[in-house]
Amino acid sequence: MADAQCACGALRLLLKGRPQLTALCHCFACQRRTGAPFSANAFYAIDCVEVSGASTEYSRTADSGRKVRMYFCPTCGSTVYWKADAAPSWIGVAVGSFADPAYTPPSMSVFEQSKHPWVQFEGALEHFEGLSARQS
Ligand SMILES: [Zn+2]
Ligand SMILES: [Zn+2]
Repeated sequence: MADAQCACGALRLLLKGRPQLTALCHCFACQRRTGAPFSANAFYAIDCVEVSGASTEYSRTADSGRKVRMYFCPTCGSTVYWKADAAPSWIGVAVGSFADPAYTPPSMSVFEQSKHPWVQFEGALEHFEGLSARQS
Protein backbone atom coordinates (compact mmCIF):
# COMPACT_ATOMS: atom_id res chain seq x y z
CA MET A 1 0.00 0.00 0.00
CA ALA A 2 1.32 3.39 -0.92
CA ASP A 3 0.02 6.87 -1.55
CA ALA A 4 0.92 9.19 -4.37
CA GLN A 5 -0.11 12.81 -4.33
CA CYS A 6 0.34 16.13 -6.11
CA ALA A 7 2.32 19.02 -4.63
CA CYS A 8 -0.71 20.50 -2.82
CA GLY A 9 -2.21 17.15 -1.76
CA ALA A 10 -5.63 17.65 -3.38
CA LEU A 11 -5.14 14.88 -5.98
CA ARG A 12 -4.25 11.55 -4.39
CA LEU A 13 -3.87 7.96 -5.48
CA LEU A 14 -4.11 4.97 -3.21
CA LEU A 15 -2.20 2.06 -4.72
CA LYS A 16 -3.07 -1.43 -3.57
CA GLY A 17 -0.24 -3.72 -4.51
CA ARG A 18 3.17 -3.14 -5.95
CA PRO A 19 4.21 -1.58 -9.25
CA GLN A 20 4.56 -4.07 -12.09
CA LEU A 21 7.37 -2.04 -13.59
CA THR A 22 9.36 1.07 -12.74
CA ALA A 23 11.14 2.81 -15.61
CA LEU A 24 12.97 6.02 -16.41
CA CYS A 25 12.14 7.88 -19.63
CA HIS A 26 14.31 10.48 -21.32
CA CYS A 27 11.93 11.40 -24.16
CA PHE A 28 11.25 15.06 -24.90
CA ALA A 29 7.54 14.70 -24.05
CA CYS A 30 8.48 13.55 -20.54
CA GLN A 31 11.12 16.27 -20.21
CA ARG A 32 8.50 18.91 -21.01
CA ARG A 33 5.79 17.28 -18.87
CA THR A 34 7.93 17.07 -15.76
CA GLY A 35 10.21 20.05 -16.25
CA ALA A 36 13.01 17.64 -15.30
CA PRO A 37 15.62 16.06 -17.59
CA PHE A 38 13.90 12.65 -17.33
CA SER A 39 10.81 11.08 -15.84
CA ALA A 40 10.56 8.21 -13.35
CA ASN A 41 7.42 6.17 -13.90
CA ALA A 42 5.74 3.33 -12.03
CA PHE A 43 3.16 1.16 -13.75
CA TYR A 44 0.28 -0.50 -11.91
CA ALA A 45 -2.63 -2.66 -12.96
CA ILE A 46 -5.55 -0.27 -13.20
CA ASP A 47 -7.70 -2.19 -10.70
CA CYS A 48 -5.05 -1.55 -7.99
CA VAL A 49 -5.59 2.20 -8.13
CA GLU A 50 -8.08 4.42 -6.29
CA VAL A 51 -8.07 8.08 -7.32
CA SER A 52 -9.42 10.87 -5.13
CA GLY A 53 -9.58 14.56 -5.87
CA ALA A 54 -10.15 16.56 -9.03
CA SER A 55 -7.86 16.28 -12.03
CA THR A 56 -7.62 17.86 -15.46
CA GLU A 57 -6.81 15.71 -18.47
CA TYR A 58 -4.24 16.65 -21.08
CA SER A 59 -3.93 14.19 -23.94
CA ARG A 60 -1.24 13.98 -26.53
CA THR A 61 -0.77 11.69 -29.51
CA ALA A 62 2.11 9.25 -29.05
CA ASP A 63 4.43 8.16 -31.85
CA SER A 64 2.18 5.10 -32.23
CA GLY A 65 -0.72 7.40 -33.21
CA ARG A 66 -2.66 6.54 -30.04
CA LYS A 67 -3.47 8.93 -27.23
CA VAL A 68 -1.64 9.21 -23.94
CA ARG A 69 -3.81 10.93 -21.30
CA MET A 70 -2.08 12.81 -18.49
CA TYR A 71 -3.96 13.79 -15.32
CA PHE A 72 -2.79 16.78 -13.36
CA CYS A 73 -4.01 18.73 -10.34
CA PRO A 74 -5.91 21.84 -11.48
CA THR A 75 -4.67 23.73 -8.42
CA CYS A 76 -0.92 23.03 -8.31
CA GLY A 77 -0.31 21.56 -11.77
CA SER A 78 1.50 18.35 -10.77
CA THR A 79 0.92 15.46 -13.17
CA VAL A 80 0.32 12.50 -10.88
CA TYR A 81 -0.78 9.74 -13.27
CA TRP A 82 -1.52 8.88 -16.88
CA LYS A 83 -3.16 6.30 -19.07
CA ALA A 84 -2.31 5.16 -22.58
CA ASP A 85 -5.06 4.16 -25.00
CA ALA A 86 -2.64 1.50 -26.26
CA ALA A 87 -2.51 -0.13 -22.79
CA PRO A 88 -5.93 0.42 -21.14
CA SER A 89 -5.37 -2.00 -18.25
CA TRP A 90 -2.36 -0.01 -16.95
CA ILE A 91 -1.88 3.25 -15.15
CA GLY A 92 1.38 5.13 -14.98
CA VAL A 93 2.20 7.01 -11.77
CA ALA A 94 4.94 9.61 -11.32
CA VAL A 95 7.49 8.11 -8.90
CA GLY A 96 8.21 11.55 -7.41
CA SER A 97 4.61 11.83 -6.23
CA PHE A 98 5.34 9.12 -3.62
CA ALA A 99 8.11 11.25 -2.05
CA ASP A 100 9.70 7.99 -0.89
CA PRO A 101 13.44 7.40 -1.40
CA ALA A 102 12.87 3.70 -0.63
CA TYR A 103 10.47 3.32 -3.56
CA THR A 104 11.12 0.42 -5.97
CA PRO A 105 14.12 1.41 -8.10
CA PRO A 106 13.75 1.46 -11.89
CA SER A 107 14.65 -1.60 -13.93
CA MET A 108 14.71 0.12 -17.31
CA SER A 109 15.83 3.39 -18.86
CA VAL A 110 14.17 4.22 -22.19
CA PHE A 111 14.59 6.87 -24.90
CA GLU A 112 18.26 7.29 -24.02
CA GLN A 113 18.67 8.78 -27.50
CA SER A 114 17.60 12.07 -25.88
CA LYS A 115 19.27 11.54 -22.47
CA HIS A 116 21.26 14.44 -21.07
CA PRO A 117 24.85 13.19 -21.15
CA TRP A 118 25.55 14.04 -17.49
CA VAL A 119 22.69 11.81 -16.33
CA GLN A 120 24.32 8.55 -15.15
CA PHE A 121 22.87 5.75 -13.05
CA GLU A 122 24.36 3.12 -10.80
CA GLY A 123 22.88 -0.32 -10.42
CA ALA A 124 21.22 -2.80 -12.70
CA LEU A 125 19.26 -1.03 -15.40
CA GLU A 126 18.40 -2.10 -18.90
CA HIS A 127 19.23 0.66 -21.35
CA PHE A 128 17.28 1.40 -24.51
CA GLU A 129 17.92 4.02 -27.17
CA GLY A 130 14.21 4.20 -27.96
CA LEU A 131 11.14 2.63 -26.39
CA SER A 132 12.17 -1.01 -26.49
CA ALA A 133 14.66 -2.23 -29.07
CA ARG A 134 18.27 -1.26 -28.66
CA GLN A 135 19.27 0.71 -31.77
CA SER A 136 22.93 1.43 -32.33
ZN1 LIG B 1 -2.35 19.77 -6.27
ZN1 LIG C 1 8.90 9.72 -21.99
